[in-house]
Amino acid sequence: MKRGTAETRQHSVLVVDDDDNVRSFFVDALTESGHSVATAVDGADALERLQGGTAPCVVLTDLRMPRMDGWELSRAVAKDPQLASIPVVVVTGDKVLSFTSPARDKPWSPSELDAMVQRSCSLHRTGGGRR
Ligand SMILES: [Zn+2]
Repeated sequence: MKRGTAETRQHSVLVVDDDDNVRSFFVDALTESGHSVATAVDGADALERLQGGTAPCVVLTDLRMPRMDGWELSRAVAKDPQLASIPVVVVTGDKVLSFTSPARDKPWSPSELDAMVQRSCSLHRTGGGRR
């Protein structure tokens, strides 16, 4: 399998954020990189979508949200055997924490975002997300 070609660079991402502007930023940036993007407005909404069959390569979630926050969502995903292999990356306003990627503390640029998705997806594919 060739790596880094256009076909292998496209991934599906679930963006979870209660802020419309943040969601659109992520959707625009990821779409521009060629990824397919689904969105959810909080952790509970995201979990419902995942359990309903939305199967992203990676979930990008805000930390502070009503109903279910980013940590609760990542714990719920890890506990569900059907979902446990999906990497969940928790993104905060000034800092990004992740279970499967090195923690980041810079604001995202579209290319950084793309690189993070590529990295999380390759971990997912090799089974690195299972715990
Ligand atoms: Zn992927």
